Amino acid sequence: MTDDSPSWLESSARQLRRCALVVVAAAVFLVLDLQFFAGAFAQPAIALGSRIEAESGQERLIFDLTGPVKISARPLADPDRIIIDIADLEFRLDPSAGRNTGLSKLIKAFRFGLFAPGRSRIIIDLAQPATIVATRIDPLKDGSRLIIELASTDAASFAAAASAAAAKAPDVPPALSSAPPAPRPSGKAVIVIDPGHGGVDTGAIGKHGEQEKAIVFEFARVLQEKIEAEGLFHAVLTREEDIFLPLAERVRRARENNAALFLSIHADTLAAPHVEGATVYTLSARASDAEAARIAEQENLADQAAGLEGKAEAEEVDDILFELTRRETHAYSRDFSKTLISKWKDAGNLNKNPSRAAGFVVLKAHDVPSILLELGYLSSEKDLTRLTSPQWREQAATKLAEAIKVFFQTHPNANNSGEGGRAKAPRPE
Ligand SMILES: [Zn+2]
Repeated sequence: MTDDSPSWLESSARQLRRCALVVVAAAVFLVLDLQFFAGAFAQPAIALGSRIEAESGQERLIFDLTGPVKISARPLADPDRIIIDIADLEFRLDPSAGRNTGLSKLIKAFRFGLFAPGRSRIIIDLAQPATIVATRIDPLKDGSRLIIELASTDAASFAAAASAAAAKAPDVPPALSSAPPAPRPSGKAVIVIDPGHGGVDTGAIGKHGEQEKAIVFEFARVLQEKIEAEGLFHAVLTREEDIFLPLAERVRRARENNAALFLSIHADTLAAPHVEGATVYTLSARASDAEAARIAEQENLADQAAGLEGKAEAEEVDDILFELTRRETHAYSRDFSKTLISKWKDAGNLNKNPSRAAGFVVLKAHDVPSILLELGYLSSEKDLTRLTSPQWREQAATKLAEAIKVFFQTHPNANNSGEGGRAKAPRPE
């Protein structure tokens, strides 16, 4: 050994330290990188439970979450509600959670769900005017707690707070998709199926907590499969998931797809539990009867149910070609309604008065034959059994698909695909 061995040892130790530093630095970068990716692809927080607590005149609506969220809350009048907007929150709660508000004096009910992609909403229906004392997110070891604190107030103060909130940040409808319609298989007419309600707008609720939005979505999916399997038409859904969709957007999706037929699917409730069976509605300025008027009024409030202000109305257009198109569209709608009723008879559950008309906003496309089908009533025990049965769903969707086929066989001009299709006047600018 030479006398330079200690320096050799020293330099080896230095190299080792440098290596260790590089490894540590790489590890730090890796952790930072992983954190960045985790942030970029973060899963939304999940709401797993909810409850109401009351204490010295104040009430707290509490949600247990798996992680932190950003929220904003504001009062909304007519009817009196509190709207809570949350960026990306998934709800895994019992759908009936919001209807069992126990002894709460302030909270009549609350609803929750998707309002727009990446935007969730909780809507509190107030039993009496209330003020938002505080909203906060309490971090917990294994999640967080979303707390909305309310206290009673008088009607005038609530109205003032609601109008101040509306002036500060008017509610904007969810961004409309600018995505082009899905390419259609050549030569096939498009049938647009519209499962009613969705997301924060649950629609009607059955006796055992059945939700209209879910029942009509399942039916729409089966109907889409039946239509596609026949191979004659291309079937498109207005919504592909449990999300809120404004009424005007549903109409827009029918027109954007150049639909040959638009079918809005619903399943309402009535005060009379013995009333049962399917009803087919067409558009009419004057309702055919009081029940049709009531159903249309209820359905037209869907936007409001989701906390969206303003009523969706189609404006009147004074133009002869437009009017001709509208009349022809209306005639097709009524003819399809007749065809559907005659086919549906075999599915065995038609309402006593199955053909009705009223001013449904969702049926107002001037150039797309449109009907609204109430599959049955969630208030009827018999209908509820049918509507939740997969066999009934198959059978009824088959009848509806048959009705579509027969309608276009007997009305070849209504098929607006390809050459010689139906000429329509555009909406005048
Ligand atoms: Zn409905």
